[in-house]
Amino acid sequence: MGAGTVIIGAGHGAGQAAASLRQLGYKNPIILLGDEDYPPYQRPPLSKAWLAGEQSVQDILFKPEIFWEQNGIAIRTGCPVTAIDRSAREVVCADGTRLPWAHLVIATGGHARRLQCPGGDLPGVQVLRTLADATALSKAMQEGRRLVIVGGGYVGLEVAATARKRGLEVTVLEAEERVLARVAGEAVSRFFETLHRNHGVTIRTGALAQGFDGGTRLAGVRLDDGHVLPADLALVGIGLVPNDDLAAAAGLACDNGIVVDAYCRTEDPDIYAIGDVTRHPSALYGRSLRLESVHNALEQAKTAAMAIMGREKPYDQVPWFWSDQYDVKLQIAGISQGYDETLLRGTPENNSFAVFYFRKGALIACDAINAPPEYMAARMMIAQGKTPDRARLADPGVPMKEIMAGAS
Ligand SMILES: Cc1cc2nc3c(=O)[nH]c(=O)nc-3n(C[C@H](O)[C@H](O)[C@H](O)COP(=O)(O)OP(=O)(O)OC[C@H]3O[C@@H](n4cnc5c(N)ncnc54)[C@H](O)[C@@H]3O)c2cc1C
Repeated sequence: MGAGTVIIGAGHGAGQAAASLRQLGYKNPIILLGDEDYPPYQRPPLSKAWLAGEQSVQDILFKPEIFWEQNGIAIRTGCPVTAIDRSAREVVCADGTRLPWAHLVIATGGHARRLQCPGGDLPGVQVLRTLADATALSKAMQEGRRLVIVGGGYVGLEVAATARKRGLEVTVLEAEERVLARVAGEAVSRFFETLHRNHGVTIRTGALAQGFDGGTRLAGVRLDDGHVLPADLALVGIGLVPNDDLAAAAGLACDNGIVVDAYCRTEDPDIYAIGDVTRHPSALYGRSLRLESVHNALEQAKTAAMAIMGREKPYDQVPWFWSDQYDVKLQIAGISQGYDETLLRGTPENNSFAVFYFRKGALIACDAINAPPEYMAARMMIAQGKTPDRARLADPGVPMKEIMAGAS
């Protein structure tokens, strides 16, 4: 039996990589080394159903614990990897253990970006990336408390919706002129602002948090105009920093993420990287992308497993993502960044519509709000490089099937 595959990280991507290797008939040892205290679990519920108190830890496990045992996959939790020794082909764990690899997969995800400002480490100021973060946040989310969320991105808005369900007073601070400004067009931003306001959330755009006030724990969030918002709890949701430091220290190319090829291989042919921590080439978009989504982590894991098994298949999928807020399901196909034209299908007032994004005349993305047919059709058209007829697309009376059939 060979040295096998060592996977650094025990998240979504890591779990899928191990499962895919076994599915493909990999016979050598597989070990996952994770710094958290849990086997692989799903992160999306941490801001949604789990945080709402509707799920247990068992419910969000990526696979039942017995799966790992039955498939001969070893998992070490509470085991941070501190170095990759490429010349010895070993990883070094914090307790000094060294483990050899034949293939190494780096699936270290990222960590929540923190606000570098006074009071940023006061009790009551939280981030949300791990189950431990979510547990602390959930405990602090008591009815009637005042929660200030710094950042109007998906995670911030999902927590706002969950916190309203749990009876907190919620304010969202967004530095840009609208929420979701980095990832969605204006119609989508305005829809979510209205949705949240209708549920009693205060949304303040163009508002920059500059510090957290309090003695022994948080008492208020200080804005750049000097105003202090009283707060019992603050959530900083301002994005993710990829955990690429191990790879960089091992001399692997990184550029806000570990640089991989279409097979999820780093510059070292026996070292792969997958998930949120990677930057991969996208033939579809003609540039490199670093994506933060379950779909990307799972599919890159399958791509890496195939390559390790010598059955190379390039990764070039249409990115997709979802977000649940109140009774609204947002589904996103493609990447809208760089769009120069948008088209609205349906009416936001009916809580069901889609925004299609075009660049140089070509369809590049779609945000579908309670509109699964639009989402599915957009995903397929983007994958096939097809663009729909604008006039027919704008008419909600024309079924998406017909629009897709006529796309060229
Ligand atoms: C609150 C929240 C809500 C989300 N909602 C959605 C959603 O609705 N839809 C969607 O598509 N995506 C969502 N995501 C994103 C999604 O969860 C991630 O894209 C996905 O988990 C990425 O998987 P990964 O394996 O790359 O990284 P992760 O799942 O982050 O796993 C990486 C693991 O590696 C560990 N690690 C890091 N460094 C080391 C080290 N040196 N040694 C050992 N272990 C290490 C990390 O602690 C972590 O456990 C959400 C994320 C969060 C936090």
